[in-house]
Amino acid sequence: MAFRKNNTYKYEPGKNFRLSRSAIDSFMKCNKCFYINRRMNVKDIGMPGFSLNSAVDELLKKEFDHHRESKTAHPYMKSTGRNLIPFAHEDLDIWRDNFKGVSYLHEETNLTITGAIDDVWIDLDTDELIVVEYKSTSTNSEISLNDGTPWKEGYKRQIDIYQWLLKMNGFEVSDDSWFIYANGLKTVGSFSNELKFDTLVLKYTGSTDWVEPKILEIKKLLDQDTIPESSDNCETCSYVTSVNSL
Ligand code: SF4
Repeated sequence: MAFRKNNTYKYEPGKNFRLSRSAIDSFMKCNKCFYINRRMNVKDIGMPGFSLNSAVDELLKKEFDHHRESKTAHPYMKSTGRNLIPFAHEDLDIWRDNFKGVSYLHEETNLTITGAIDDVWIDLDTDELIVVEYKSTSTNSEISLNDGTPWKEGYKRQIDIYQWLLKMNGFEVSDDSWFIYANGLKTVGSFSNELKFDTLVLKYTGSTDWVEPKILEIKKLLDQDTIPESSDNCETCSYVTSVNSL
């Protein structure tokens, strides 16, 4: 069987390696898939693009950029109870670029950690930066960051890593972050060429303590020559195992 290769993401012992936020998450979901992908250079299945979600992100960015320029608070910010405006920085476009992001060279491991953020705000009372993540979905259920779904836990890890990256770049960063969560309403009477959204501003208090120990674990795994065990709760692997045993 021919495997898809992608040399951009292949780890070679002794050389600097860019480790993205999503790669850290991949490690946390399954050591084996992470290893096969990053160390053995077998490209993973990947995910389809979510064009509607990207469109919401893009429009939110434009909306916040308008307030960044005028140094004013967006109405969503007022609901946080803090004195916030969008943060202006010359590297913001780099920080938002999926192929660049906020980066930090972790010298002990020679891994460059990267993560592309959606937005950063600043608290004018404390001068702390606030990490902001845009999310969009469409559900009739109540949206909660603490519903126990694996992807919500992943969203929180995402924020933790961004907070860590900004801290390592020398910024004062608040533990408090916000999700701007846009919910496409399915309860309206018709489509009529538009989607209506109910947008929630959800606070998450992050924790960066786990990030560096995880980077050290990842480095150890990347340097080992044996393939680790697969995750117990992956439906893809259990499907493949079942099919192979027929
Ligand atoms: S359990 Fe198998 S398919 Fe699932 S993520 Fe791990 S190696 Fe990949």
